[in-house]
Amino acid sequence: MSERVFNFSPGPSTLPVEVLELAQQELLNFKDSGMSIMEHSHRGKVYEAVHNETKALLSELLEIPANYEILFLQGGASLQFDMIPLNFISQGGTADYILTGSFAEKAYKEAKKIGDTHVAASTKELNYKRVINQEELQLSEEPVYVHMTSNNTIFGTQFKEFPEVGDVPLVCDMSSDILSRKIDVSKFGLIYAGAQKNLGPSGVTLVIIRKDLLEKVNTNQPSMLRYDIMAENNSLYNTAPTFSIYLVNLVLKWVKENGGINKFEKQNEEKAGFIYEVIDNSNGYYKGHAEKDSRSLMNITFRLPHEDLEKAFIEEGTKLGLVGLKGHRSVGGIRASVYNAMPVEGCKALAKFMVDFQKNNS
Ligand code: PMP
Repeated sequence: MSERVFNFSPGPSTLPVEVLELAQQELLNFKDSGMSIMEHSHRGKVYEAVHNETKALLSELLEIPANYEILFLQGGASLQFDMIPLNFISQGGTADYILTGSFAEKAYKEAKKIGDTHVAASTKELNYKRVINQEELQLSEEPVYVHMTSNNTIFGTQFKEFPEVGDVPLVCDMSSDILSRKIDVSKFGLIYAGAQKNLGPSGVTLVIIRKDLLEKVNTNQPSMLRYDIMAENNSLYNTAPTFSIYLVNLVLKWVKENGGINKFEKQNEEKAGFIYEVIDNSNGYYKGHAEKDSRSLMNITFRLPHEDLEKAFIEEGTKLGLVGLKGHRSVGGIRASVYNAMPVEGCKALAKFMVDFQKNNS
């Protein structure tokens, strides 16, 4: 393949060309230091500047209040499924879980091994075709935290508004929609996200944690799993994933230079709109998995009339340079992941292909 394709993969996913080009330019000699950023000590001045600038960019773009700590951890979003209960319920108390998809379920299953849990709401019986309503939320008596997933990568659903949980810390897995829309960080006790969708490459996990919660962590557990130790050491307790963080830095600068979150939020609505419009105007040829008011702007999931057509759709799409469209086995069909770095042209090209494919195959 001599040209870049439109990559609709759910994560790792497409990165901005400008970012890849800049990383390439800087690869051998980062800012006249005579070596790659990858070769710099994580404790040296050159890397430290990148590290701290990345935090500052996140603070600015996400408007993170001063009473929050920004951490760069490893182990993916999946390690957070363990770290959260280990830090907050392993010594007692109950954690509530809102189940709206596979990753929420995974988080819940991990927590169950570690402490007392309660399912505050679930749409599992509906095969996760929508998120939950406020009225469905049944919190336990005094939860230590409430865990939720803002965007369900596999099922293609997304919370448009976040649940009200009073004074209980709301813990949110934003792996697949962080930086895609404006959020009010102050509504959350802890936000986490694997970087490999909207933030950069895999290898680093962003955690934004309210500082008062750092005082409540279980200190009687391995150091590498303690939020307070990571915070005290500016996420440099051990060797940080420096190259991944550097790429996150470039992605954040790219977001900033291209208009910031508000601009991307509008663009994401427009981009997903092209594809949902084709689904809605297809007379049932394309069937969306998500209920309309739960539709994700990041992961668009739909089926065709039968599996052979889905196979053909994926094959023909690939030939046209539209790749990564195969849905997850639990939903089947097609999934188009259209994170910030997916260009508008990519979504237009997919929408056009969908219209053509229906014409030629019905
Ligand atoms: N949560 C969500 C919402 C995800 O989409 C994913 C990965 N696709 C994960 C958690 C797991 O992330 P990781 O592979 O970084 O552990």
